[in-house]
Amino acid sequence: KFGPLKYRRILLKISGEALMGGGQYGIDNETCQRIASEVKDAKELGAEISLVIGGGNIFRGVSPAAQGMERASADYMGMLATVMNALAMQNALESMGLFTRVLSAIEMTAICEPYIRRRALRHMEKGRIVIFAAGTGNPFFTTDTAAALRAAEMGCDALLKGTQVDGVYSDDPKTNPEAERFDHLSYHEVLMRDLKVMDQAAISLTRESNIPIVVFPIGERGGVVGALTGKGPATVISD
Ligand code: UDP
Repeated sequence: KFGPLKYRRILLKISGEALMGGGQYGIDNETCQRIASEVKDAKELGAEISLVIGGGNIFRGVSPAAQGMERASADYMGMLATVMNALAMQNALESMGLFTRVLSAIEMTAICEPYIRRRALRHMEKGRIVIFAAGTGNPFFTTDTAAALRAAEMGCDALLKGTQVDGVYSDDPKTNPEAERFDHLSYHEVLMRDLKVMDQAAISLTRESNIPIVVFPIGERGGVVGALTGKGPATVISD
């Protein structure tokens, strides 16, 4: 349908932790560069790409560091963390000659554009890489939910979820060698078995919009293109 691609317009969700590289927190420039080069490869195959990046490498509303804080305030700090990551990825992508726009759910006009759906669509049509920052703009949500929401708003053909392993397992394969790996799952199975892929709100949203979730290894070179062409390791969640 789309040449070598199974999906043309995509939303790529990366957790904040994926940007840490070997570190314990924060942003590793080399890792940003590597992920950016993967995005570039996907773009050169004709994909229209948008990104949602988490903030867990800097701050999480539910973390011990937020103990004693009001949850909403802590969550706003988490959303600000995603803006930092968005700017880091923007830099990495632009250093490779790609055109990008950061659109924030919380207005910060000195550093990025406010999120306006029609504007985001226009950027994508023009071949720009759109980075959605500040999650949904609401506390008590996650960037997984933001990813599902933006994927639906943009009419994406798929939501690509980068993880540390090569797909979805019945249990954490790093601690349980018996864990079973899945090539395909239905949304229903993910919800019923409470599999730790994305949170339930995100799964429900993608299910309602009929957007497949492609879970693939972000730590492996070629992971993004592999997920897009169907040639690399991935678990596909659809009906
Ligand atoms: N967050 C929020 N609303 C959103 C998205 C994110 O309040 O719509 C906050 C929340 O505190 C969360 C933090 O931002 O803990 C970082 O996002 P997330 O934990 O999803 O990042 P990831 O785990 O993907 O790195």
